[in-house]
Amino acid sequence: MLEIAIVGLPNAGKSTLFNRLVRKKAAVVSNIPGVTRDRREGIGRISDLEFKVVDTGGWSDQNNFSLQVIEQIEFSLSRSDIILFLIDAKIQNDQNKEFAKWLKRKTDKPVILIANKCESHRSESIDYLRFFNFADLVYISAEHNLGMADFYDALDNVIRYLNKDDNLNDYESSKLRIAIIGRPNVGKSTFLNNLLTENRVITSSEAGTTRDSIDILYNHHGELITLIDTAGIRKKTDDLELKFIEKSIESIKRSHVVILMLDSLLGVEQQDLSVGEIAIREGKGIVVVLNKWDLINKDNRSKLIKFIKQQEITRLFLEVPTITTSALKDMRCRAVIDQCLKINKSLNNKISTAKLNKWLISALDTHPHPIVKGRAVKMKYIAQIGTNPPAFSLVCNVPKNIDESYKRYLINNLRKNFFTNGVPVRLILKKNK
Ligand code: GDP
Repeated sequence: MLEIAIVGLPNAGKSTLFNRLVRKKAAVVSNIPGVTRDRREGIGRISDLEFKVVDTGGWSDQNNFSLQVIEQIEFSLSRSDIILFLIDAKIQNDQNKEFAKWLKRKTDKPVILIANKCESHRSESIDYLRFFNFADLVYISAEHNLGMADFYDALDNVIRYLNKDDNLNDYESSKLRIAIIGRPNVGKSTFLNNLLTENRVITSSEAGTTRDSIDILYNHHGELITLIDTAGIRKKTDDLELKFIEKSIESIKRSHVVILMLDSLLGVEQQDLSVGEIAIREGKGIVVVLNKWDLINKDNRSKLIKFIKQQEITRLFLEVPTITTSALKDMRCRAVIDQCLKINKSLNNKISTAKLNKWLISALDTHPHPIVKGRAVKMKYIAQIGTNPPAFSLVCNVPKNIDESYKRYLINNLRKNFFTNGVPVRLILKKNK
């Protein structure tokens, strides 16, 4: 598939354009320069053109991460077929000239110069960039969705020029989306880097380095998966932090399976439980990852696993697979993804009504519900009413009087018989008519 990279100075509007192309609110858009520091990838569309689009970090000398960011941009340049060089046309900035020179030196791929923020007028302030002779120049407003027809023409021309338009439609987007959630510093970025091997997500031992939620396409033994890298959920409540918290929740909503990553040395905290609750409420599959397992003394390992399993987290999550990893030492990271694939498959399982009712009889037989107010409880019929997450409707004479713990017994038993651990199962009790 054709790959397009968006490059430019911080605050040029790269995230806004990226979001417009992939048609979702994928990035925290902020007026603070340098907020998007990592690569984000998605499937972009404009009319009939479909392509992989990559949003790179902002190029800035003041940025502490400038070297890493430059590396990221170089990496994107080397991978992409077309480069979109986005500038803020409202301000004349000498750094754009520097960037343009650098770009000319680094790549001979077609570059489309895009003057953004042209909602009210066509700015002349970009004249100084004309002599770089880029493949095309387009005026747009990514925020107000203006100039998109010109942009389409420019892109279409370049694609024709590259003669790549015949294989544009054979792309299948990923069927599994995995959100990687966890407090800052548990090792999310290291884990991702490990999977992706190329050093694409910036890691640092400073808490809170991952500043945004990023969609990354990942090829796992031939299966295309979207990894959603989320900001750690934090307690701080200033504006931007709040957006990140919302972002994590939003990332969970956009996923099928959630990886809840814990630091083995720190264990479970309230925030982790809240995330788990949200994931269950949203009907997502869950895998708990105990990272930094290399730091745990061999003698303490079994004790620790037992401790974590006894903690509320597993009671809350019912039966959730727990995998110990070391993202740093490359231990079992890929096994986590295998587990996510297994859960995803299970989330979509359909169980025949005949099998379900056979199961119901034996489950009731093994463990009958106690008599309610002198009446025998009759559970008559069960049917699956949904997948992803699997949901069932159970017809009963006194649905309101069914014990919560009994309901949990049925749910756990359903899961044990037909689904993988980590799959939330829903059971709705209905009164027979
Ligand atoms: P994030 O905030 O969750 O993305 O965490 P990072 O990936 O930035 O990791 C925070 C720190 O923990 C870095 O210094 C990593 O090198 C370190 N780290 C991550 N995973 C492991 C691991 O499995 N073992 C050890 N010993 N350190 C790790």
